[in-house]
Amino acid sequence: SLSPYVVGNWKMNGVRATLAEARAIDRAVARLTGVEVGLAPPFTLIAALREAVTAIGVGGQDCHVAAKGAHTGDVSAAMLADAGADFVIVGHSERRADHGESDALVRAKAEAALAAGLSVIVCVGETEAQRDSGEAEAVVSRQLDASLPSGEAAGEVGEVKLAERLAVAYEPVWAIGTGRVPSVADVEAMHAALRQRLVAAYGEGGSDVRVLYGGSVNPSNAAELLSTPGVGGALVGGASLSAESFMGIVAAAG
Ligand code: 13P
Repeated sequence: SLSPYVVGNWKMNGVRATLAEARAIDRAVARLTGVEVGLAPPFTLIAALREAVTAIGVGGQDCHVAAKGAHTGDVSAAMLADAGADFVIVGHSERRADHGESDALVRAKAEAALAAGLSVIVCVGETEAQRDSGEAEAVVSRQLDASLPSGEAAGEVGEVKLAERLAVAYEPVWAIGTGRVPSVADVEAMHAALRQRLVAAYGEGGSDVRVLYGGSVNPSNAAELLSTPGVGGALVGGASLSAESFMGIVAAAG
């Protein structure tokens, strides 16, 4: 199976000076084996980050479904690829909440990303109310079923294994930026449920797709979260903005 995958999502943070952190991360990752690392800066830094690093992947945090056209303020998957991106995150809960993105739109974005030659990370996660009412697994499973690229779109990946082009991130909304994380048992149960959905969607090809955990991952809790059965890596927000804290998490994955 593939190496653990640790991805930093800078969200709407980072200016050119922050690239110094990315360079330090890149130098440290170059000395490691057995872990795959990516950073998703804001669009404004993608091209500069591409020039600054060699050992880590570079990604966008969103893309439009169309390749080009009259969509003021949007950026297409093809444009991300042209800027040097390797991957894109789609369906983050902040996009779903701030921009009303539906599962169907997230699926279309994932398919556009694959068609543009990018790898894609599809995000899902329940709200606190959904967790409290005992429906987290049902809600997140439905969300994943409706957000994943179709088997046909995934099939167009061709020679490359699906798992090298698609990852899923389970990010409970109530754990993002709060310092709260689910119990190991809840993470394990959710990741097992998502694995079932991946195999239902893609057959054997779904069994290697990495399912990342995201939400308040830090250097202190990373080892426990990353060693939980079914967890194939981490999607890291706040702690990815400093090389010191991000490398503490990456080290826990290796
Ligand atoms: P935090 O690590 O800041 O909780 O953010 C998680 C996240 O949303 C990553 O996409």
